Amino acid sequence: MKVGFIGLGNMGLPMAENLYKAGYEIIGFDLKTEIKAKFSVSNEIEQVVKDKQVIFTMLPSGREVMDVYRQIASLCAPGTVMVDCSTIDVKSAHFVGNLAKDFQLLTLDAPVSGGVIGAEQGTLTFMIGGDQKGFDDIKPLFEVMGKKSVYCGHSGSGQAAKICNNMILGVSMIGVCEAFSLADKLGLDRQKMFEVSSNSSGQCWSLNTYCPAPGVGPKSPSDNKYEPGFATELMLKDLLLAQEAAEQVSAHTPLGKHASNVYQDLVKNGGLGKDFSYILPFFKEKKRV
Ligand code: NAD
Repeated sequence: MKVGFIGLGNMGLPMAENLYKAGYEIIGFDLKTEIKAKFSVSNEIEQVVKDKQVIFTMLPSGREVMDVYRQIASLCAPGTVMVDCSTIDVKSAHFVGNLAKDFQLLTLDAPVSGGVIGAEQGTLTFMIGGDQKGFDDIKPLFEVMGKKSVYCGHSGSGQAAKICNNMILGVSMIGVCEAFSLADKLGLDRQKMFEVSSNSSGQCWSLNTYCPAPGVGPKSPSDNKYEPGFATELMLKDLLLAQEAAEQVSAHTPLGKHASNVYQDLVKNGGLGKDFSYILPFFKEKKRV
């Protein structure tokens, strides 16, 4: 199976490398020209999409995905499976789905969870919407790059699943950081707090797996001076996408809305480029209002 891969950043490059290592014939493209990859990378997008059975995109946002699809849709052979793994708004996902349909392409929105480590280790979770035939045809590729792929339904449902999941993540990370911040002020040892809550009803991924307190729990970005990981601005992006979608369908999401305000505050006040668990030191500096 011949594969084209567009967007070789923090996530795209290791994902594409895993496909290459698994024996797929792969060629990549990125606007940056200095990409160092084990597989071949071309400066011409036409070369990357021509005569391929599968095209992946892993780009920053809906704007870039729409730009790229406008460039490539007419160059792909009918029946090509187009897989967008970027996290983008549901509206842009529908736009590219419809555009590709005009050229008889099969489309999947297939955002991921698991971060850069998951991309490197091939342990991502894929949430997938779009043409079920496309999903069935290329399932083995998802199995190379991830530990789990869930077909969620019609076009846009992968993106819907992703923003709902990340709304849980943003809200729960804030909750965990609030609890540590209160525990500090109450004179409770962080290690003891972890031992209790990670084994009690307060347990969740943000605490048990990705503990925001340095030196406590399994190794996480907090142990590496909050280097991302998953950057605060990407969390903010996902929370805003969730709010945009909630607005469109009139869904009541008060904590999701509040979480996006908290991350906006964090990004503006020293959190840009830090891991999203940086909420903990950020809260430590704040006075009660
Ligand atoms: P990144 O910025 O590291 O990579 C994006 C790449 O796309 C860059 O190399 C950029 O040069 C390239 N690019 C931009 N416009 C382009 C164009 N028109 N044509 C070709 N290449 C272009 O971002 P990332 O961290 O790899 O994230 C990619 C997507 O995955 C985002 O939507 C992000 O929200 C999502 N995501 C990221 C993480 C994470 O932990 N980093 C986790 C889950 C999902």
